[in-house]
Amino acid sequence: MNPTVNTAGPCIEAHPAGQGVLLQVCGKQVACPICGETGFAARKVMLNTRKLTFFNLDFLNKTATIYRCLRCSHVLWFED
Ligand SMILES: [Zn+2]
Repeated sequence: MNPTVNTAGPCIEAHPAGQGVLLQVCGKQVACPICGETGFAARKVMLNTRKLTFFNLDFLNKTATIYRCLRCSHVLWFED
């Protein structure tokens, strides 16, 4: 069994591999733009902050999926 991890966006796929996931966007394998690593740690995050609420920008209160490079910790963000 190799289930696809819950991800953002219609053409984003994350496949479990080793300690993290391999990320594919629209069928293209994604490597870290900094160091070239292909393993990422996936995590869901909330985008809402008190500051956004203060400025009446609640529509920006969304979730995103972040992919943190396992080698250099660079983070790729994808809004849900
Ligand atoms: Zn990296």
